[in-house]
Amino acid sequence: MKIKKAIELGKSELSDFENNYNIVKTLLLNHLDMSFEKLYINLDQELPDEEIFFKNIKDFKNSKPLEYITGKASFYSLDFKVFEGVLIPRPETEILVQKVIDISKSLNKELKICEIGVGSGIISTVLALNTNAKIISTDINKIAIKNAKENIQNFKVQDRVKVIHTSYLDGINEDFDILVSNPPYIANDYKLDNWVLNEPKNALFGGEYGDEILKEIIKLADLKNIKIVACEMGYDQKKSMSDELKKHNYKAEFYKDLAGFDRGFIAIKN
Ligand code: GLN
Repeated sequence: MKIKKAIELGKSELSDFENNYNIVKTLLLNHLDMSFEKLYINLDQELPDEEIFFKNIKDFKNSKPLEYITGKASFYSLDFKVFEGVLIPRPETEILVQKVIDISKSLNKELKICEIGVGSGIISTVLALNTNAKIISTDINKIAIKNAKENIQNFKVQDRVKVIHTSYLDGINEDFDILVSNPPYIANDYKLDNWVLNEPKNALFGGEYGDEILKEIIKLADLKNIKIVACEMGYDQKKSMSDELKKHNYKAEFYKDLAGFDRGFIAIKN
C-alpha cells in the first residue's frame, strides 16, 4: 500500500476523532521513522509494514495513548522515551521545571536537589541539563525507575542524577536545598478519559481529596529542613496548599498553567 493511501485509510478509521489527521501523521512518521518534511515527497512510496501501522491505529482507537505506541514524548523541546506504565510528560510541567531552573541559577551555588516521583525522568534530566545541581530522584514504580535511568543515560547526566527505588525519601539521609515534585494529585473519584486511565493509577490519583501526597511532601520538606519546595498541583488545591505551606513556615508563590488554572507553587522556608 502506498503512503498516501495509508493516510486516507487511517483518517477514515479515526473519523470519530477531530484531530484524526494529526494522529495518523504522528503514527505514520513514527512508523516510517521520517521527518514531516520528507513525508510529502514520499507519498508514492510503499508503506513498510501495513499490519503494524494499522494495528497502531487500532490500538489508539482502543484508548492506548500515542506516546505509549510511539514510545516517546517531547518535553522542554527534547525527545524522551516513555515506557507503558509510566506517566506521560505534560507540557504544563515545563513551567515547574523552569521555575526551579530560575531559582537555582539565582542562588548561585552548587545545589542539591531531590525529586519525589521521577516517572520518566523528565524533570530531573532537564534540571541536570540546565543547572549544575546534584540530584537524587525516587519513585515507587519500578518501571519508572528503569525509564528514568534510560533517559538520564541518553542525555548523559547520570553522573549528577541518582535514581533510587523508594517511597518519598525513605532511606535517604542527605540534606537538600530544593525538593521538586509533580506527584499524583487527582482525587480518586475524578472522571478521566480512557486514554488517561491507561496511564498508571499510582501516578495520577493522590487519594480521596487528591492533595494527600502533596501534604506529605510539604511535611517531609519541613522535617528535613529543605529550604525550597516546588510542586505541581491540581487546579483546585491552592487554598489547601497555601494553608499547609503556612503551617510549615513556607512562604509560597503560586503559578498558573497556560490554560489559566492554578497549577503549582514554589515555596521558601522562612
Ligand atoms: N516526574 C514525572 C513527570 O512529571 C512523573 C510524575 C508522576 O508520575 N506523577 O512527568
